[in-house]
Amino acid sequence: MIPYNPPLADMRFALEHVVDLEALSALPGCEGADPDTVAAVLEEAAKLARDVLAPINMSGDHEGSVVENGVVRTPKGFKEAYRTYVEGGWNSLPFEEEFGGQGLPVVVALAVAEMWNSANMAWALCPLLTVGAIEALLRHGTKDLQETYLPKLVSGEWTGTMNLTEPQAGSDVGALRTKAVKDGDHYLITGQKIFITYGEHDMAENLIHLVLARLPGTPPGTRGISLFLVPKFLVKEDGSLGDRNDVRCVSLEHKLGIHGSPTAVLAYGDNGGAVGYLIGEENKGMECMFTMMNNARLNVGLQGVAISERAYQQARDYAKTRIQGRTMTGGKSESPLPIVYHPDVKRMLLAIKSRTEAARALAYFTAGQIDRARHLPEEADRTKAQLLVDLLIPLVKAWSTDLGVENSSLAVQVYGGMGFIEETGVAQHFRDARILPIYEGTNGIQAMDLLGRKLMRDQGAAAGAFIALMRELDAPLAEQSGDDLAVLRRSLAAGLDAVEAATKLLVESFAADPARAAAGSVPYLNLFATVAGGWLLDKQALAAQAQLSQGSGDAGFNEAKLMTARFFAEHYLTPAAAQLSAIGGGATVVAFDPGQF
Ligand SMILES: Cc1cc2nc3c(=O)[nH]c(=O)nc-3n(C[C@H](O)[C@H](O)[C@H](O)COP(=O)(O)OP(=O)(O)OC[C@H]3O[C@@H](n4cnc5c(N)ncnc54)[C@H](O)[C@@H]3O)c2cc1C
Repeated sequence: MIPYNPPLADMRFALEHVVDLEALSALPGCEGADPDTVAAVLEEAAKLARDVLAPINMSGDHEGSVVENGVVRTPKGFKEAYRTYVEGGWNSLPFEEEFGGQGLPVVVALAVAEMWNSANMAWALCPLLTVGAIEALLRHGTKDLQETYLPKLVSGEWTGTMNLTEPQAGSDVGALRTKAVKDGDHYLITGQKIFITYGEHDMAENLIHLVLARLPGTPPGTRGISLFLVPKFLVKEDGSLGDRNDVRCVSLEHKLGIHGSPTAVLAYGDNGGAVGYLIGEENKGMECMFTMMNNARLNVGLQGVAISERAYQQARDYAKTRIQGRTMTGGKSESPLPIVYHPDVKRMLLAIKSRTEAARALAYFTAGQIDRARHLPEEADRTKAQLLVDLLIPLVKAWSTDLGVENSSLAVQVYGGMGFIEETGVAQHFRDARILPIYEGTNGIQAMDLLGRKLMRDQGAAAGAFIALMRELDAPLAEQSGDDLAVLRRSLAAGLDAVEAATKLLVESFAADPARAAAGSVPYLNLFATVAGGWLLDKQALAAQAQLSQGSGDAGFNEAKLMTARFFAEHYLTPAAAQLSAIGGGATVVAFDPGQF
């Protein structure tokens, strides 16, 4: 078994200094989230993650989920772990008390979910999708649908899925062909969906599929798509389970990673049509699905943080025990040393550590803004917070997941040859991480969302407001003496200048030449996220510096925070401005003819 120790001190530090949990818990509706209660929740969740989920991560990878005659069996221990999770009430943390939820802020549930995903990403995908289905039902479902399905989804007794993809409709969701026909008070659904995560499994008694389909005679593209709730078992008037619905698992995919998670091909309507219920209005399915996708995108970004953390812990622990070579400092050492003393190994570990902490901070900050968008007393402030969330979701999804791949790859490098050997377990994290930049909208699609939807809908105004907010940190940084904080201040100012210039450039060029602007969208997203992540590390560095000056807190922890922020500033924040050249270089990409490849 490869151990996992939840980084509770780091998580609490981010909740305090990035999210300002104390201020959040003073808002109406967030009263239950005082820092002491949240610390206790995190401690309890840590036990489940460390003692129940982590031990079945590697065995789940070896065994994988299997299908026989449409029946899916998840790896040994997955079902029992899920039962423990449901009985512990973990699924219901952030939901309305009306449906059996515990009413805690989204950011607390996110911090808890980080631990599930670090411990066992393949297992944690199941609750991740259920949470998204609940959000969509809460926002767009009728009272009837909510009363029938929400209590069991909130408790986790039933699980949710998200059905967009078809063979000819991946990134281009508008190309989907699954049909829906009205039949009395419900619809009949026919068609095939592929790549459906936990589309069939044995961990819950009922599965609730949220399915995108097209009504007859509707306009082509995304304007003609509606969203339906399709249960695996129909639900009777009294809430008990009735007949099996007309949906079945045809096969499971064989994948590079997340072997424990069943990825299903689902056939709808082989026997006349699966019974489905409309969510929201006809032809407005994409709007409803976006509620689910935004939630899932934040949580997939969090998976990038989680896998980075897990890979970091393994690489760090290995580097402290692997003896190889002698030190370059402190004279001639006679005895060989653990590799953690070698400058390049330290550099690799700092690279993983600093980028993990920056990505965690960005994900938590975004979740904290979701809570503020729901609970701040003034409507204008809620709107401002929501605009920030909309802007940040693609950053969290794409940047954190790319980092998940890079960080887990570096962790393999720290191991040397043993990293390439499956027994050590670090290779599994690298394989598992590789899906993250692909599903929930590829990272290229995230960058297009940032550019086409988020920047262009207000000509960069929300981005400008966020840049101004980040610039407010300059004054407190300037008040501090010392080399560390001077480096942070300089690199942040340069990064913000670059984001501002890049935003202006893309807003102007999009109108004249959208393809050229699109070619710069990924480097722009990376620049923006790196600067935002650096800003949040700097915020934490200031808090650490304040504690060091007061002689409070754990001095070793605080010094490490300062140095981690400085490392990030030197290695990532300062070079980030060079992305401006790639952002402005879209013309070269556009000019390159596909025939020239
Ligand atoms: C393990 C796994 C689990 C999944 N789970 C689910 C699930 O639960 N539910 C579900 O509905 N789907 C699921 N998916 C599907 C997943 O969301 C899609 O694979 C993903 O959206 C990409 O679609 P595609 O595979 O068709 O790639 P394509 O759309 O063919 O894309 C191929 C490449 O072209 C790029 N590209 C395509 N269009 C554009 C464009 N307009 N601009 C710029 N670049 C573009 C992409 O970024 C990508 O690099 C899952 C997939 C996998 C592998």
